[in-house]
Amino acid sequence: MLLSINPSNAKIVAKHKPYTKLYTQSIVQQVDTAWSKWRLTSHQERSELLLSMAKKLVDSKNKLAELMGTEMGKPIKQGIAEIEKCAAVCEYYYQNAAGFLQEQDIKTDGSKSYVSFQPIGVVLAVMPWNFPFWQVFRFLAPALAAGNCGLLKHASNVMGCALAIEDIVKQAGFPDNVFRALLLDSASVNDVIANPLVKALTLTGSTNAGKKVAEKAGSLLKKTVLELGGSDAYIVLEDADLEHAAETCVNSRLINAGQSCIAAKRFVVVERIEKEFTRLFVEKMKAKVMGDPMVEGTDVGPMARADLRDELHEQVDHSVTKGAKCLLGGYVPEGKNAFYPPTVLTNVKKGMPAYDEELFGPVAAIISAKDEADAIRIANDSVFGLGGAVFTQDKERGELIAATQMEAGSCFVNGLVKSDPRLPFGGIKESGYGRELGMFGIHEFVNIKSVWIA
Ligand code: NDP
Repeated sequence: MLLSINPSNAKIVAKHKPYTKLYTQSIVQQVDTAWSKWRLTSHQERSELLLSMAKKLVDSKNKLAELMGTEMGKPIKQGIAEIEKCAAVCEYYYQNAAGFLQEQDIKTDGSKSYVSFQPIGVVLAVMPWNFPFWQVFRFLAPALAAGNCGLLKHASNVMGCALAIEDIVKQAGFPDNVFRALLLDSASVNDVIANPLVKALTLTGSTNAGKKVAEKAGSLLKKTVLELGGSDAYIVLEDADLEHAAETCVNSRLINAGQSCIAAKRFVVVERIEKEFTRLFVEKMKAKVMGDPMVEGTDVGPMARADLRDELHEQVDHSVTKGAKCLLGGYVPEGKNAFYPPTVLTNVKKGMPAYDEELFGPVAAIISAKDEADAIRIANDSVFGLGGAVFTQDKERGELIAATQMEAGSCFVNGLVKSDPRLPFGGIKESGYGRELGMFGIHEFVNIKSVWIA
């Protein structure tokens, strides 16, 4: 059974019976049949449906945010913002997909030659629970706009969200079966990858899951896009506006109870201002309200699952055993729930989980650096390379570090790293490969075809 358990109180919200192998195969077949017609639709037809989907999302935003709150604990105001962002990505590709997919003339020795962008077919998305709508829509909007069809294997604990997305696509007026959710556990994913009708795969989730699906897809020469874990470093230099830096760092660390791939996880602070930054940071972490995600004023809800919370606590405990100092939080609250309080660790050093691993929860690791060069070295001393930020009042200095020194897919200056439909998003190193969003995102799953005429 695929169980959705409310992380605020450990009550079972829903039980979904996984689809059988035969039923799954019949869905894949139906989606491929739908593709044979969908691939021939015009850009205008597709983009109007995307706009209709954006409207349906906005109309249902409260209901969908509540569903997230019960299935994975996201505070209601963050859930509403997530649905609005899904609508925005649909609108973005409504406006831009035709331009991104326009044929590009290239002069050669032929009478005519050009590049054309053709749909590739059925694409499987394996998605996580942390942004159960956004992660799916940032794949789905460009996929449908490019003339592809989609299959979704969502995380086992948010199958209600998967079914809600299937319903939104239907309500928006898309033809039957251009997008279907598969109620499956992770052990069944390899069979879907192996289905010859599935042409490519995108996964957002842990590095471990990414490696597993990439291995299978690679053995069959199927293209993958992988958006995996991160341990983003935010560098705070001696000339930073510390009030602004501390506020931004706290907001980044606590978004979605710290369960975001691009949340700031390591705060690399130069020694000269470390004491003052830490004071401000702890003060602001303390002020955040942890509680019932359904209550308007809640900043930090429970984590998505109790097992993930317990793993996080072990990482904190292990770091403290190795010499980190816990200035705030660092305990498991009583009761049947998955809450973990905002936590601050200082004196974090290489060899501790808080330095070497991803902390997927509301735990901040403050790491001391001697100077700018040392801070850059520490920021890059990670197996991950998803995002990063630098805080300095000298914008040119910040830009140079962000653009040329930090090893990550997205680097921001004096701001919180966030995904934006207009900018490509993805990582390097063990954070994965390929890009989502923007023009680069829609080009990942198309046949970039050269056409030459004598
Ligand atoms: P997973 O990476 O295990 O899950 C993400 C998705 O991948 C889910 O749909 C999951 O299905 C599926 N999956 C997992 N293993 C496989 C596999 N071997 N083959 C095919 N599909 C698979 O995340 P967890 O929920 O276990 O969270 C663990 C850690 O992953 C977190 O602590 C965090 O570090 C990282 N993570 C990163 C995210 C990101 O945004 N980059 C998002 C979520 C997690 P199922 O749910 O059925 O197991």
